[in-house]
Amino acid sequence: MLAKVPKGTNDILPEQIDCWYYLENKTREVLQNYGYREIRTPAFEHTELFVRGIGETTDIVQKEMFTFQDRKGRSLTLRPEGTAPVVRAYLEHNLGRENPLSKLFYIGSMFRCEKPQAGRYRQFNQFGAEAIGSPLPVIDAEIIAAALSIYKQLGLTDLKLMLNSVGCRKCRPQYLKALKDYFGEKREMLCVDCRQRYEQNPLRILDCKKEKCQLVIKKCPSIFEYLCEDCANHFNTLRNCLDNIGITYQINPLLVRGLDYYTKTAFEIVAEELGAQNAVGGGGRYDYLVEELGGKSTPAVGFAAGMERILETMLKQGIRIPVWDGIRVFIAVTSQEQVVTALSIANQIREKGISAEMDFLGKSLKSQMRTANKLQVPYVLILGSEELKENKVTIKDMVNGVQEEISLNDILAYLKKAYF
Ligand code: ATP
Ligand code: MG
Repeated sequence: MLAKVPKGTNDILPEQIDCWYYLENKTREVLQNYGYREIRTPAFEHTELFVRGIGETTDIVQKEMFTFQDRKGRSLTLRPEGTAPVVRAYLEHNLGRENPLSKLFYIGSMFRCEKPQAGRYRQFNQFGAEAIGSPLPVIDAEIIAAALSIYKQLGLTDLKLMLNSVGCRKCRPQYLKALKDYFGEKREMLCVDCRQRYEQNPLRILDCKKEKCQLVIKKCPSIFEYLCEDCANHFNTLRNCLDNIGITYQINPLLVRGLDYYTKTAFEIVAEELGAQNAVGGGGRYDYLVEELGGKSTPAVGFAAGMERILETMLKQGIRIPVWDGIRVFIAVTSQEQVVTALSIANQIREKGISAEMDFLGKSLKSQMRTANKLQVPYVLILGSEELKENKVTIKDMVNGVQEEISLNDILAYLKKAYF
């Protein structure tokens, strides 16, 4: 128990960290190229932010939040998603005042109390981007392009973009009514959760992953028969933008996304390799959220991507990730009296930007050489008492086994020649 992580959480071990650096670096690079700036918000917020921002009828708010009280009895919640916190920060710091269009992105851990399974964890990582301030479909196209560009830069192939519109305040009520009529007759065929969704927000039924519900959902009315002119135009213009920039998509009228604040555009990116949990990212427009959180009515669009699922897909697709070079120089001592000299040499090397390691366990020279071999260092510096008196050390090229004596003052020049 003491030496075990809580259910649904994972350690990222040093041997796995290169993948994360690679993913995070690519994400930053692409999103910055698209004009998005990084924002970092706290890991927890006032519970109310998520209740208001995500919606009372969502699975997240109803059963997935890690909510706790601080010592003064205030209710706080570990963030289950990144959009509401970004919008909270946008309002709190009045970011819209300087920029009529704020383009922000984040990378960080999210927390949801879900049943852990492949691709579904209780602490997981997302990157996401939000464009706050524009109602135009072209920004929806841009943010979709940005998301797809990250996947592409990572080397991922065969991803599918699913696209839908979920309407707006004007047209959604009619669609909800149509759904109520349709599901009303078939209520006994739905799961317990969906029966509750039927009462609270029938649109949520479309998101149910249970097979028996899916059978009923498959034949439900399509939102496209209910979209108002504004929403239909928005959708058509978005399609036109995507067609023009060569992005292919599949229209899926059943795609609703998990959150209440979405309007118009909804999209999801899926990787077939992943099986049941196959969404590597998703997003959409949320024109009511800023207002819902106390700001003035401001249109916005965003997406979020699951980083564990992306890495899993990269693994399944056999994508090679550049790994850390490892330690470049090992400083071996022949007597323990030399450890301080070794430390000083190691630090000088490190200060020049070259990685260096030495022994801290009082091992014999033979054993130190074994460690150096294990680390696969290209060079070992061997300190010997007689040589040190003359300000010299032995440098061994571990690739060809050649050893030579060099002056202490020449170590850096020697290594620099080898590395730069
Ligand atoms: P799902 O339908 O798989 O539950 P979601 O609609 O709840 O996804 P979003 O809230 O849109 O997901 O989050 C965006 C992305 O974050 C998802 O597409 C997925 O890649 C990832 N994600 C969501 N929940 C988890 C989780 N519990 N563990 C790992 N990744 C997750
Ligand atoms: Mg979910």
